[in-house]
Amino acid sequence: MTNKRAASPKELKGIGVSPGIIIGKAHLVDRSKVKIQYQYIIDDRQLDREVERFRQALKITEKQLSTLKDRMPDHVQQHAFILDSHLMILRDTMLNDATIRRILKEKINAEWALKKSLQEIRQIFEQINDDYISSRINDVENVAERILRNLSGEDHAHLSEIRERVIIVAHDLSPADTSELNISRVMGFITDAGGKTSHTGILAHALQIPAVVGLESVTDMVEDGDLLIVDGNTGEVVILPDDNDIIRYQEKQLQHEEYLSVIARTSHLPAVTIDGHRIAVQANMEFLEEVTAVKDYGGEGIGLYRTEFLYLRSKGLPSEEDLFEDYRQVAEIISPAPVTIRSLDLGGDKISSGMEISREVNPALGLRAIRLCLKEPQILKTQLRAILRASAYGQVNLMFPMVSGLREILEAKAILDQAKAELDREKKAYNPDIKVGIMIEVPSAVVMAEVLARHVDFFSIGTNDLIQYALAIDRDNEHVSHLFQPFHPAILRMIHAVVNAAKQTGIGVSLCGEMAGDPLCISFLLGLGLRELSMNARAIPVIKNVIRSITIEEARVDFETMMRFHTAGQVREYALKRTKTLVPELGEKGYLQNHTQDMYPELQT
Ligand code: PEP
Ligand code: MG
Repeated sequence: MTNKRAASPKELKGIGVSPGIIIGKAHLVDRSKVKIQYQYIIDDRQLDREVERFRQALKITEKQLSTLKDRMPDHVQQHAFILDSHLMILRDTMLNDATIRRILKEKINAEWALKKSLQEIRQIFEQINDDYISSRINDVENVAERILRNLSGEDHAHLSEIRERVIIVAHDLSPADTSELNISRVMGFITDAGGKTSHTGILAHALQIPAVVGLESVTDMVEDGDLLIVDGNTGEVVILPDDNDIIRYQEKQLQHEEYLSVIARTSHLPAVTIDGHRIAVQANMEFLEEVTAVKDYGGEGIGLYRTEFLYLRSKGLPSEEDLFEDYRQVAEIISPAPVTIRSLDLGGDKISSGMEISREVNPALGLRAIRLCLKEPQILKTQLRAILRASAYGQVNLMFPMVSGLREILEAKAILDQAKAELDREKKAYNPDIKVGIMIEVPSAVVMAEVLARHVDFFSIGTNDLIQYALAIDRDNEHVSHLFQPFHPAILRMIHAVVNAAKQTGIGVSLCGEMAGDPLCISFLLGLGLRELSMNARAIPVIKNVIRSITIEEARVDFETMMRFHTAGQVREYALKRTKTLVPELGEKGYLQNHTQDMYPELQT
């Protein structure tokens, strides 16, 4: 057998899909073994049960620690004090009472509440000017880790392989795998496969797990337990780093965090351009438990709720009641701000265990999204009934994905009408004037935008798929990811055409693809007239900062200049230069590193 281990530090370059710098040990996985640990919001009626579940986990932990201590062999008895101190930590009110208070006050699950308590304790420890005492945080973390294991109950057996906080190294992780990552154990992940806007990356971002994908053959180079540095901002990975590497990355990490903490201070304020134009900055989200993060990051509503992950998490198909509960809570928590719920976009790379979908040679071009729903109208109707019922609890909009022509809109709206009629008969409340929109992400919809606009209340431009379908680039394929070019002149013209069609017809228009969260794209998007953007919640503070640094007139000039270029490279180069001028600290603090040569190879020529 050949030895995979690198002799000296080995630096690799992949695609950073979820920001953050982490240093930790590699854990090679058979992806099926990574197990779930969710963060979720608890219904009022379940709060007592959640507290009880936490108390039970404390009891079990106490028993385990006492048993361990009793069974300690004589020759190591002098170390029993470690377990004594763990027992003391376990009984400390800062850990247990604080967590119970959090569960009740913030209505979140025990795991999440415990993690927050731990975070608070960690901050207090960091302020202690004594190395020995501040290093005791490791003990607190050990205890919390054990409580978390006990909270996970039956799943514990599956988790047994991952014993410490690790960086997952896998050939590939599907979106379903990623949604199941145990976020208390997984520091981040790196994979051989994957592209810039793959759903795996989008989920990692949402779960705040730093990630680098598209490393081609990292699983051949890393061994279990190897020390790794992963920079999710730039896509850099260092295998077996030396001391200098570690210091260098720690400094980068510090700079990055400093910058983010400065802009976070103003992220809850509206995004207004220098000349007073207000831009609606909304968030994309995938899980109910992200709603609070949307608010924390300063999101003014949810411009895209990708609903398919509830289906991916379920064993069969979720019931109308399950869906309704989820949507109602989102609507209520984000209210009075709006939420745009997208109907199922399953298929492609997102397959639910509850659906019979035959394997397709070209899944992205196959039975996906609205096509799948129109073939299985009962599934769509169940979801539409749940969305309609949730519309009685907040400002809910409905949106259909992957529309390629008018027929699909008419068919989907007919099913919506059936769902409304049923609810009328059952005397169930809903908003009869719910706004209905479509995603514009298929080139045929761009061409037909003017016609489609007459049948819907709004458009939301999905550039992730639009780029995939217009440039014929598989968004999940690392081998063509260098050709995935948001600034391709064809894409710019398509976005422009869609915004024009919407404006001429007088309907709303926003953009919810990853371009909305890319600082380089902002002046172009504002310049062509977009006033509503929806993005990954973590991008919001940075994007608001960019919006505040420009006038609409300047943005218009940028837009007109960019429309005159004939290659993506020229546009990108111009956008990079302009963004660095507008927000110099973005360039200085390393945030834009993602946007330089490796991400955009055309700039090298
Ligand atoms: C898009 O395609 O741009 C989009 C926002 O939807 P998704 O990434 O879920 O396909
Ligand atoms: Mg899409």
